[in-house]
Amino acid sequence: MPKYDYLIVGSGLFGSTFACLATRSGKRCLVIDKRPHLGGNVYCEETEGINVHKYGAHIFHTSNKEVWDFVNDIVPFNRYTNSPIANYQGELYNLPFNMNTFRQLWGVTTPAEAKSKIEEQRQEALDIMRQEGAAEPRNLEEQALYLVGRDIYERLIKGYTEKQWGRPCNELPAFIIRRLPLRFVFDNNYFNDSYQGIPIGGYNRLIDGLLKGSDTLTETDFFADRANLEAVADRIVYTGKIDEYFGYSLGHLDYRTLRFETEVAATPNYQGNAVVNYTAAEIPYTRIIEHKHFETFGDDVYLNPHTIITREYPAEATKCSEPFYPVNDEKNQSLLEKYRQLATKEKNVLFGGRLAEYKYYDMAPIVEKVLKIRFPENLK
Ligand code: FAD
Ligand code: UDP
Repeated sequence: MPKYDYLIVGSGLFGSTFACLATRSGKRCLVIDKRPHLGGNVYCEETEGINVHKYGAHIFHTSNKEVWDFVNDIVPFNRYTNSPIANYQGELYNLPFNMNTFRQLWGVTTPAEAKSKIEEQRQEALDIMRQEGAAEPRNLEEQALYLVGRDIYERLIKGYTEKQWGRPCNELPAFIIRRLPLRFVFDNNYFNDSYQGIPIGGYNRLIDGLLKGSDTLTETDFFADRANLEAVADRIVYTGKIDEYFGYSLGHLDYRTLRFETEVAATPNYQGNAVVNYTAAEIPYTRIIEHKHFETFGDDVYLNPHTIITREYPAEATKCSEPFYPVNDEKNQSLLEKYRQLATKEKNVLFGGRLAEYKYYDMAPIVEKVLKIRFPENLK
C-alpha cells in the first residue's frame, strides 16, 4: 500500500498550499522539488542579513480577504506598498501613471490640465491611425499611443516593453496592454488591491509554515525516478511543466526568462526604493531591485551598512534557463490545448500552478485556486 495520499511534484506556492490544506484534512503528503531548496519562485536567499528574492521580486497583493487571512494566519505580512520608480535617461518618474507622473512629464498641476494634455496626444494617435485606414489598434505600439499618447509611450513604455518581450512594439500584439491605467490623483501605489505586503521575515517562513506536517525532499527530480515516485502515493499533484510531463511528445512550449545579476553594494541605501524600472532601450536591463526595501522602512534601512541589488535582464528561455513567462501567442496556446487534452486522460493526476497550466499567475490567485479545492471530496 502506498505510504502517502499525495505525491506533490514541486514545492512552489501551488504545491505548498495544496500540501497545507491536504495535511489539515488528515492526508499524508510527500512534496518533492528538483531544486536544492523548497518554495519555488518565491524562495529567498539570505545574504548580509537581507532576504534576496532569488527568482525575481515578489510582492503579494490581493483583494480577496479569505486569501489574505489564510496567508497571514501562517505568517503576518508587513506594510510594504509597491511604488516603483521609472528612470528614463536619468529623469525619474512615478509609476503607475498618475498625477505625480504627469507633473514630472509636463509640469501640469491639476487633473484637468493632465487630461487635456493626454487627450491632445491620443487624438494625434487616432488621426494617424485613421489616415492609415486602421479601424482599431493593430499592434501594441498603436494600442499604447491610443491609450496614453506619445510622451508616456516613448519615455515609459516603448523601451521597457521591447526589452521585456525581445521584439519591437509594432510587432507585438495589442492585447498585452489592453489596459494601461491612468490615475488622475496623486497616488503612487502600484496595485489597486485592498491588501499587499511581504511576509515578515521573508517568504521562506510562509513556505515553511505551509509545508508543516508534510514530508519533503529537495534535489529530487520526478522524471529521474518516475516509476518509484509514482508508487509512493495514491495520487499526484503535478506543478512542473506540462510539456515535460508528456516527454515533450508534441513539442516544446516557449517561455521568456530573466537573467539576474546580483551584487552587494557597499552603501546602506543604493536607490532609495525597492524597484526602479529602466525604461530606455539603451540600458540592457529592465529594472534594479534593492531587496532590503521590501522589509525595512524609513531610517531603519541604515541599520545595515550593506545593501543588495539585482539587475534583471530579460531573455528568450533555452533548455537550461528558468522558464518564467509563458508566451501566450497562438502557436503556444494551440500546443497547450493539445497537452491539456492529454492531461484530462491522466486519472490520478491534478495539474496545477503556472508551469502545469502554462499560465501567468500572480501568487494570490494561486492560493485562491487551491483554497477553492474542497478537501478531500472534490479531488479525483
Ligand atoms: P513555481 O513557484 O514555479 O513552483 C514550481 C516548482 O516545481 C519549482 O520549485 C520547480 O523546481 C518544481 N519542479 C518543476 N519540475 C519538477 C520536477 N520534474 N521534479 C521536481 N520538481 C519540479 N506574483 C505576484 O503575486 N507578485 C509578484 O510580484 C510576482 N513577481 C514575479 C516575478 C517573476 C520574475 C516571476 C517569474 C513571477 C512572479 N510572480 C509574482 C508569480 C509567482 O512567482 C507565481 O504566481 C508563483 O510562484 C507560482 O507558484 P507555482 O507553485 O505555480 O510555481
Ligand atoms: N510596462 C512598461 N513600463 C514599465 C513597467 C511596465 O511599459 O515601467 C509594461 C510592459 O509592457 C510590461 C507590462 O507593462 O510587460 C506589465 O508590467 P508589470 O511590471 O506590471 O507586470 P509583470 O511584468 O510583473 O507581469
